[in-house]
Amino acid sequence: MPINKTDQKVNINQRRVINGADADVIQLYPMKHKFAWEAYLAGNANHWLPTEIGMQKDIEQWKSNSVLSEDERKALKTVLGFFTTADSIAANNVALAFYRHITSPECRLYILRQAYEEAIHTHAYQYIVESLGLEEGEIFNMYREVESIYNKDAFVLGFNEGIFDPEFKTGTFENDQKFLENICVFSLIMEGIFFYSSFAVMFGFQRQNKMMGSAEQIQYIMRDESQHLNFGINLINTIKEEQPELWTADFQAHIIDLIKQAVVLEYTFAREVFPNGIFGMNSDNFKQYIEHIADRRLERVGLPAQYNVVNPFPWMSEAVDLSKEKNFFETRVTEYQVGGTLEW
Ligand code: FE
Repeated sequence: MPINKTDQKVNINQRRVINGADADVIQLYPMKHKFAWEAYLAGNANHWLPTEIGMQKDIEQWKSNSVLSEDERKALKTVLGFFTTADSIAANNVALAFYRHITSPECRLYILRQAYEEAIHTHAYQYIVESLGLEEGEIFNMYREVESIYNKDAFVLGFNEGIFDPEFKTGTFENDQKFLENICVFSLIMEGIFFYSSFAVMFGFQRQNKMMGSAEQIQYIMRDESQHLNFGINLINTIKEEQPELWTADFQAHIIDLIKQAVVLEYTFAREVFPNGIFGMNSDNFKQYIEHIADRRLERVGLPAQYNVVNPFPWMSEAVDLSKEKNFFETRVTEYQVGGTLEW
């Protein structure tokens, strides 16, 4: 292809999250979607690796007969079973849908970082399983054997259909809405709802000084996932500005409906895998907690809260401060520059 020098300057007004110009190269400037660059820098500052976290105490506690109850052992294995597939499904969507169809160079740069973080998370689960000597087949195959995990995975996987088709292209109203639906499902539901009862369980261990290494791994993962959620929310809100015609009343009602379905799937999962409750959290608490965070996700993309319930796990707020996610990262991010410590 002969060089055409008159085409060399990239017009910032043609930069779009989807359907923009110049997606064939990652030409960062003129930079339009600064939130993506900031997310990329924050991701680098938050860099961590599973093997940096000591697991010796966890190994002793897991081997001891007097530290963990049967319910606690089952809970740890079940949340690992969920996490292993969830992160790989998220990784596939990031690499095979987001990267392919998002045209903003700075967004694509962050997506490369996000994909690597999903790989680190899968590594963390493998490292916990290996350290504790758990049976790999039991944990990694759980999504086929535990119905409430399967149902959550099947729900999100349905939104890959069509999008993963090599013929799929954005650029029509119908396809743009379909891709926006994919972003909403993977960001608001997968990253923003489906991890959270399992996060709460891992914080439960931590609050009891049990399995602290495993819990610390999950805490790092939660920090990354909060950033993925924030990025996804920024993608959605930017597409709403760039292509407002996509955000119809019907589409908004559809997204609210999907979130309500996801809330039921998530608290059904919590109820089925922790039938006796755990660490003082019972099934009503989980339901209310999931409803509370679903409202926060809805509000962040300009949709009305549906549940209006108080947070029954205020200590989760202290840890991830869900009502102030944006502010949290803006104000605290410099503290992560020092590297491998987990100072929130
Ligand atoms: Fe993620």
